Amino acid sequence: MPLSPLLSDALASLRATRAVLAAYDPEDAQQRQLLAETMSRRLEKAGFRLLPRRGGQEDVYVFDHLKAPGFQVKVYTSIQGGRVRSKDADAIRVCLVYADEASRKGGEGRTIGISSECRVVRRGEIEAIVERTLERARDAYRRVSETERCRACGAPMATSKAGKLYCAERCWLR
Ligand SMILES: [Zn+2]
Repeated sequence: MPLSPLLSDALASLRATRAVLAAYDPEDAQQRQLLAETMSRRLEKAGFRLLPRRGGQEDVYVFDHLKAPGFQVKVYTSIQGGRVRSKDADAIRVCLVYADEASRKGGEGRTIGISSECRVVRRGEIEAIVERTLERARDAYRRVSETERCRACGAPMATSKAGKLYCAERCWLR
């Protein structure tokens, strides 16, 4: 007799629960897929949106700051084609960026890194990896309030390659 659909659903979800609680194995294609699915679902539930995919690149999710226009938390998931990449070396990366006004209006603007990147190593349980990623995202979100602002226009100050602070809206050019 076939299992009732309800029971087989319950079994499937139990199996999935056990899988997310087991140590993540990058050699296992199924686990790479499960980590990708768990990660995407949790990010979307938390209000992140997937940026349009660009030819073969990893999935990138962003969260627009609710009160500070232009600030975005960005998660480079290492998900490619529905699975996280197999190489242990490439981590998930989380950072805080600022999209300037021009780019927000769809023009030729720039997105500037505000905080340095945080790396999340894909080790341990799938559930724990996803939780750590969200934790880093919350850290990045909180960093908005600590960001130095331009005295002239109030935009965040970004750091140049030479280590100098400059206004992210380049208001001195206006
Ligand atoms: Zn300024």
